[in-house]
Amino acid sequence: MLMSEKNLTTQENTENLMEKIVSLCKRRGFIFPGSEIYGGLAGAWDYGHFGAELLNNIKSSWWKKFVSDRSDMYGVRAAILMRSEVWEASGHVAGFADPMVECSKCHHRFRTDQLDAEATKNATICPDCGGALGESRQFNMMFATKIGAADDTAATAYLRPETAQGIFVNFKNTVDAYHPKLPFGMAQIGKAFRNEITPRDFIFRSREFEQMEIEYYIRPETWTEQFEYWKDEMAEWMESVGIDMSKVHAIDIPEEDLAHYSKRTVDFEFEYPFGQKELFGLAYRGSFDLDNHHLDYQDEETKERIVPHVIEPSFGVDRAFLAVMLSAYTEDEMNGEVRQYLKLAPHIAPTLAAVSPLLRNKPELVEKAKEVFGMMKREFGRITYDDNGNIGKRYRRQDEIGTPFCIVIDFDTLGENPAEKNTVTVRHRDTGNQVRVQISELINYIKGKIEK
Ligand code: ATP
Repeated sequence: MLMSEKNLTTQENTENLMEKIVSLCKRRGFIFPGSEIYGGLAGAWDYGHFGAELLNNIKSSWWKKFVSDRSDMYGVRAAILMRSEVWEASGHVAGFADPMVECSKCHHRFRTDQLDAEATKNATICPDCGGALGESRQFNMMFATKIGAADDTAATAYLRPETAQGIFVNFKNTVDAYHPKLPFGMAQIGKAFRNEITPRDFIFRSREFEQMEIEYYIRPETWTEQFEYWKDEMAEWMESVGIDMSKVHAIDIPEEDLAHYSKRTVDFEFEYPFGQKELFGLAYRGSFDLDNHHLDYQDEETKERIVPHVIEPSFGVDRAFLAVMLSAYTEDEMNGEVRQYLKLAPHIAPTLAAVSPLLRNKPELVEKAKEVFGMMKREFGRITYDDNGNIGKRYRRQDEIGTPFCIVIDFDTLGENPAEKNTVTVRHRDTGNQVRVQISELINYIKGKIEK
């Protein structure tokens, strides 16, 4: 078996890497364009079965590391609809805006800063039709909606543009309910909505997306060590889900570009095929947020009242998904053919193993395969039964889904040869190597291969 992994950083491969990922996502049921049968909706994406499984595994691994495995973190699941007062206090109504220009001819709208960066100067000409661009103005990215039946009496509310404020507005509830001691944190995973002027680059910039955010409350004098600690924790998690750390760069935002309340912000950037751009962010936000909402904290022993400072590790779920996919995508040559596969870690892969009978028209093979499938499914949950096409096609499909193991029931499984009887073939995704394992040993064998 000839195996030679292609180096995907070469120009030839990176150029169409995004196309390959987008098409694999569609073909194998990871991600579809939103509202597709009605022509699609820009900036909205639907995750299919394998996409939803992978997304859930990413989120579960995050929740486990940052919430369940700790004793100083409190989970929150706040409402997406929030009162306008929240967003007035947070500064979003006045300031959550991107600069926008409109073409006077075709009326297409663009982000001024993106056009300027692409033109490496102040852009004046529409990239779509060559018409003249108008004046740049600020465009607020929040989605507003009306709560209540009658339009005239209805109150304006906003779909949250970040999960962070849903955490802050529950600060007092959390302190009153659990009496946490400083330092402690609150964490939330959930949807966020931004009316992005130009959604682009697949799920990288969309209008509806998901975030995983932590607000960690600390005593002000500890901020530098806490910042370093969270920076390391973030990197550790990225590596654990299989993000290629050689493509991640922690960029300190220069002082002149920092928000007025922040003493330090680090953007973790990833080398996407369309450029090095933000993956996640870590910000020291001082007392800005708790001050905005007039919140403070009382030490129950000393009775001292303080406004804790905040360290905010902020993760985009969809960008995590994209970085995981890009890191896992591999091409090699197997049996004289180019194959594409996702080298996903077993604890992240949407399906851990596919079970199949060698031939689907042999009832005795099918019966045994269903029995093994049932046993595996009860143990692991994430198991697929796959009897479509011939065995070669199944391997190729499971490789593209990133399934670490294919388990095949064949005639030797049912045969009388004591060395092979009641054994199955386990084929390993990355090497194509096949080993025979006793059915009674199968669960332990697979367990031993799952690192996390
Ligand atoms: P960008 O500069 O790329 O617009 P941001 O700095 O506005 O991002 P934050 O407000 O810090 O982003 O949001 C936290 C995280 O949410 C980001 O690090 C990113 O992973 C994710 N995120 C932000 N906007 C989007 C979007 N439109 N689509 C998908 N993910 C997003």
